[in-house]
Amino acid sequence: MTTTYRNYIGGEWVEAASGRTFEDLNPANKEDLLGRFPRSDAADVDRAVEAAREAFKSWRLYPAPRRAEIVFRAGELLLKRKEELARLMVREMGKVLKEARGDVQEGIDTAYYMAGEGRRLFGHHVPCELPSKFGVAMRVPVGVVAAITPWNFPLAIPTWKLLPAIVCGNTVVFKPAEDTPLMAHAFVEILIEAGLPPGVVNLVHGYGEEAGAALVRHPGVNLVSFTGSSETGREIARVSAETYKKVSLEMGGKNAILVMDDAALDLAVEGAIWGGFGTSGQRCTAASRVIVHDAVLKGFTQAFVDRAKGLRLGSGLEETTDVGPVINETQLRRIHEYTEIGRKEGARVLLGGEIATEGELRRGFFYRPTIFGEVDPGMRIAREEIFGPSVSVLRARSLEEAVEICNNTNYGLSSAIYTRDIDRAFRAIQDIATGVTYVNASTIGAEIQFPFGGVRQTGNGHREGGWTVLDIMTEWKTVYIDYSGRLQKAQIDV
Ligand code: NAP
Repeated sequence: MTTTYRNYIGGEWVEAASGRTFEDLNPANKEDLLGRFPRSDAADVDRAVEAAREAFKSWRLYPAPRRAEIVFRAGELLLKRKEELARLMVREMGKVLKEARGDVQEGIDTAYYMAGEGRRLFGHHVPCELPSKFGVAMRVPVGVVAAITPWNFPLAIPTWKLLPAIVCGNTVVFKPAEDTPLMAHAFVEILIEAGLPPGVVNLVHGYGEEAGAALVRHPGVNLVSFTGSSETGREIARVSAETYKKVSLEMGGKNAILVMDDAALDLAVEGAIWGGFGTSGQRCTAASRVIVHDAVLKGFTQAFVDRAKGLRLGSGLEETTDVGPVINETQLRRIHEYTEIGRKEGARVLLGGEIATEGELRRGFFYRPTIFGEVDPGMRIAREEIFGPSVSVLRARSLEEAVEICNNTNYGLSSAIYTRDIDRAFRAIQDIATGVTYVNASTIGAEIQFPFGGVRQTGNGHREGGWTVLDIMTEWKTVYIDYSGRLQKAQIDV
């Protein structure tokens, strides 16, 4: 029997007003149906925003340390259920078990970090220019937060948004990706068990163009916190402007690893394998380009292809699997279209370049790890986000040229350089235009206590993670207290 799940609005589990549902499939085996979820629309969004507005009245006044205790308990519950959640995530999203455990761990780390913030949420006291006057800048909640999330980190990304939102005193309407509703359901169940009062978090499942768009349009929403593609992000920013909403956007990437002629080549190959094919290349920080110094291009490429040849495709639940499926049929076709585009542009397919259909693989959405050689920096495969296990190797004659190629995209999320020369490492840090740069490590591996985000079409100036997410989830309120007992005029009484 397939379970039919519900939305969670104002503390109650409810069906979509229309009664419609959609199906949640296992990408490694499309016959494995995980459940049916409400296909919500504007009517459900209205109810959820109403519940969040109502709950905000009291939640914003509930002391932050108490709010944070609930978040801490959620962390404890995530830890207790880590293995179960990780296995469920593999079934729903496809990433291999070790990575799924990492995704849950990221949620646990975020919970513990944010629980600590409940007793900090620092403001500023600054001296005033006038006597007997006191000034302080303090954080206040934004109001109702619309959290719209993608499927590639189905637990970690919702925790990045919901947990700081809660600690800061906001209430939330959460619209998770249609490909991973079950992880969102499990996370909300955990928040309820941790003691979150009704209405503080409301869960509305459904499609982006229906439930998501209605949420972004809704005048009762104060902040849209979005992670997903740059196209959707731009649309959200455009629609949000109509109602003057605050908008935080974490979007796509076309990240590069630079390999210099003095690099530890084995380490660089390992980094390129992990960055290019980890999570089947479906990370916003995936290394979809490797820019290699001319002097080591041949040796690096050979070693990279040889190592990638050994990667085993399969279900993420099997210990021997290196690369799981991609998320759905549409994405599978899109990745293959890019292979065709690359071929037509004149790049050489050195490995893969096809949909894998042998044996059990035919049941799911599997794409062979693909490596392109002879890639020109102007080609579409070198500039556009593919979001699959597809890596382009490019040639550079110097560090300067490698940096120029690296910056030659509309995105700017993550980057990496492999070199043993400290001067080159610092020059790369200085000149590469991305929000995150690694030295002698791959483009992936962010830790939750640091700012995370990117420039150009990757972000709109905000940073999630660490202390910087607090600037998204709060507004600054400046307070002046004059205890002089007379009229004092700033800038005039000098
Ligand atoms: P997406 O298609 O943009 O979807 C993201 C979320 O937005 C989903 O919940 C989606 O709903 C919803 N949505 C779609 N259209 C909408 C609309 N018009 N109004 C409101 N919501 C809408 O992205 P994705 O395919 O899920 O995720 C992959 C992308 O996310 C990649 O570009 C990747 O680089 C990026 N990403 C970025 C980061 C980062 O931190 N920078 C992290 C992870 C992923 P549906 O699921 O129903 O379509």
